[in-house]
Amino acid sequence: MDTYNFDVVIIGGGAAGCSCALYTSRADLKTVILDKNPAIGALAITHKIANYPGVAGDISGAELLEVMREQAVAFGTSYQRAQVYGVELQGEEKKVYTPEGTFVGRALVLATGAMGRTASLKGEAEFLGRGVSYCATCDAAFYREREVAVVGFNPEAIDEAQVLTKFASTVHWITYNADPTDEQTQYLLSVPNVKHWNRSRLAAIEGDASGVTQVVVKQKSEQSPHTVAVDGVFVYESGSRPITDFLGGQVKCNPDGGVAVDDSMATNVEGVWAIGDIRNTPFKQAIVAASDGCVAAMEIDRFLNRRKSVRKDWDHT
Ligand SMILES: Cc1cc2nc3c(=O)[nH]c(=O)nc-3n(C[C@H](O)[C@H](O)[C@H](O)COP(=O)(O)OP(=O)(O)OC[C@H]3O[C@@H](n4cnc5c(N)ncnc54)[C@H](O)[C@@H]3O)c2cc1C
Repeated sequence: MDTYNFDVVIIGGGAAGCSCALYTSRADLKTVILDKNPAIGALAITHKIANYPGVAGDISGAELLEVMREQAVAFGTSYQRAQVYGVELQGEEKKVYTPEGTFVGRALVLATGAMGRTASLKGEAEFLGRGVSYCATCDAAFYREREVAVVGFNPEAIDEAQVLTKFASTVHWITYNADPTDEQTQYLLSVPNVKHWNRSRLAAIEGDASGVTQVVVKQKSEQSPHTVAVDGVFVYESGSRPITDFLGGQVKCNPDGGVAVDDSMATNVEGVWAIGDIRNTPFKQAIVAASDGCVAAMEIDRFLNRRKSVRKDWDHT
């Protein structure tokens, strides 16, 4: 797996991550944003934004985010689509693991927002890592010629189901309210190894010591549930909890699940900052997230400059 070195690695390309990247790039720090999907964050799914200062009139969250992202990229930020599944925070170099490679930063910024959810499906927590996954890009290859289920209807679910169709023999796509007129939905349904269970809920994930063996699907129109034999279940449903699962408990969180920070957005781990909704701020607004990003970036610039005397900076050529 390839390794890429940066001054600043930012996980999450929402309002917080983009604003932070804009400032760190302008400070001439080699910066990368790792974002699993630009269409699924809180800002990206917001229909209209009318209260972002300086942006008059209604604009969609996705449009505002695109401007933010392009502004950061124009100042030199690298933007990489990648789902982070783990980090290693000990020492001066912070390692970030993705299916696209390992990204190493002298400073790490956590900006994954709060669209996460607690494992709530029956059997989900029990079989997590033993057939239940949240990352097809990471795990699809384990399911070559096997049957899998994908749960959820959002851009991430559709993208990840497409990845799975290249490996699995059958992808059972379980949705309650999929929009049949949606272009992406239509494309996914045209793939021969996709079986769509619409107007359906996943009632349970079942298995044995070897892992997942089947799911129980309840269709709205039918009394009795169906049992479908699968080896893997990929869950893509959004909630409202800070997304911190990839941290493996290495950073201190508040009792409400938000990452704990000081006034400069620094976490309890030196060299690691947390910004935006991942802090579970009481005021979850795009401007608050962007402001956090600015504060963290300024502090990171100071932090890395202090270290310059002892460590060589990256080559910016
Ligand atoms: C329905 C709705 C309406 C809203 N309306 C408004 C409004 O009118 N005005 C306003 O100011 N605010 C509004 N907000 C709030 C605002 O959108 C958020 O406060 C803001 O987007 C938070 O920014 P963020 O960068 O912290 O998180 P997000 O915008 O959620 O971005 C997080 C990013 O992290 C990425 N990510 C997550 N996990 C990983 C991972 N493991 N690896 C890599 N990337 C990952 C996601 O793909 C996403 O792009 C609204 C929110 C919602 C949900």
